[in-house]
Order: sequence, then structure tokens, then C-alpha cells
Amino acid sequence: MFKIPETHPRYKSLIKREKLVAGIEAGITSKQGLIAHGRGEAFDYLIGERTLDSARRATEVAAALLLAAKRPVISVNGNVAALAVNEIIELSELTNAPLEVNIFYRTEERARKIKELLEKQGARNVLGDGADARIPGIAHARARADREGIYSADVVLAPLEDGDRCEALIKMGKKVITIDLNPLSRTSLHATVSIVDDVERAIRNLISVVMEKKRGKGKENLLEDYDNEENLKEVIYEIASRLKSDGKIN
Ligand code: ATP
Ligand code: MG
Repeated sequence: MFKIPETHPRYKSLIKREKLVAGIEAGITSKQGLIAHGRGEAFDYLIGERTLDSARRATEVAAALLLAAKRPVISVNGNVAALAVNEIIELSELTNAPLEVNIFYRTEERARKIKELLEKQGARNVLGDGADARIPGIAHARARADREGIYSADVVLAPLEDGDRCEALIKMGKKVITIDLNPLSRTSLHATVSIVDDVERAIRNLISVVMEKKRGKGKENLLEDYDNEENLKEVIYEIASRLKSDGKIN
């Protein structure tokens, strides 16, 4: 890995790029994943590479939803595996949610490599290598889901999910939590709860909120008072006010 000096102003962002390049070299991330990350980076620049208040609100609701779920599942793709493997495993343990390898540009080899990485890092319940059920309304290999996992889940956490699949999961009656830096993506618009934040920051925040909730009341339902569309408007408002604030953007 290229050595980036910690004093570099774009240190964190450059480390993420290095992690993705390492993911490509290890056969776990797709080349198209780099392009998707680039789109995400552009939004992160606008957001200011920090967690917005609106994302914190969504995280509270998402954590409560995961803890109240009967069959929660966490979806893992090649970018998530490269950027936040330890965080996603920790969240899976804390919420008793199996991880399911769920990749857009599916090859069996890449699915197997992601599963192996998760297991090597300590994940105990990884699904998705023999995914044999189909999500209705989705064409070709992207419809595949594990019968015991995403297919029968009531709550799915799907970081960096495609808009089409997110919509199809909602149509199946599931509650879908997404993590996507683009508040305008079809994914963000369709999800039950959209966390507009970088995947690593978002999962770290989810871990701490889940831990807090487990110590406290735990099973409250925050979804009743939550409106995802309103929260996405709030995201855009936060971004716009930051950009307008007297031309000072830091
Ligand atoms: P959609 O299919 O939802 O309309 P899209 O086609 O623009 O959106 P995809 O290519 O399906 O997007 O998925 C990539 C999405 O992942 C982008 O919207 C991008 O903002 C988001 N993304 C990329 N990298 C990250 C990251 N590190 N953290 C959070 N989100 C990210
Ligand atoms: Mg898409």
C-alpha cells in the first residue's frame, strides 16, 4: 500500500482509495466499485466529510429498527468489505444479524472471496454464497438472495445498495436501511431509513448507538415519528446552508 503521510489534508480520503485499490487487488472489489466510490466522494466533499445532524437522526431510527427486528440481515458488497470489514462484523454481532454477501457485478469467485475475508476477520454467520431465492421484479443475477437471509428478512441494512434492488426489497414488504452519500439517489429516495453518510462513519455511529440502546430501553419504535423524505430534505438543507454560509465552507 502506498504510504500516505498522516499530515496530508486529504489523508482519510486517500486511505479509503488505497483500501479500495487493495480490495481490487485481492479480488473482492469490482472495478465499477471504484466509479461508485467516486460518485460518493463528490457528495462527501459537499457534506464536509463529517456526519450531518440529519444522518445522526436517521442512525437513531435505524439502530432501533435493527434491535427490534425479528430477522435482521446486513448486506455486504465489495466496497463495504474493502472499506469497513471490521465495523460491519462488529455490528452484525451486536444486532444478531447475519451478514449476506450481496454483490451487483456478481461472480462466484468474488462472492467466495468476500465470504472468506469476512470469516477470516471473525464473522461467524455469513450467508449468500449459494443464494438460491429470487427477489421479484429484478432481472438476471442481481435478483439472487439467500432464502435464509435477505429473502426472508424483515429488516435489511444495505449499505451502497442499488436503487432498483432497494425498491424491490421495499415492495416485498421489508424495512430497508441504506447508507448512501447521495441524498438524491433512487436508493436514498426509496429506503425506509436513509443514512446519508460515508459507510465507515455510518457503521461506526450505528455501533455506538446500538450499544447505547442495548444498555438502555432498547426496543423503542422510533419509526412512527420518522419521515424519511423529510429527513432527506433536511440533508439537502444542511448541505446547502453549509455552502451558502458567507462563502466559508470549513
Ligand atoms: P441509484 O441506483 O440509487 O439511483 P446510483 O446508480 O447513482 O444510484 P449506484 O452505482 O447504484 O448509485 O451505487 C453507488 C452509490 O453508493 C452512490 O450513490 C454513492 O453515493 C454511494 N457511495 C459510494 N461510496 C460510498 C461510501 N464510501 N459511503 C457511502 N456511500 C457511498
Ligand atoms: Mg444504481
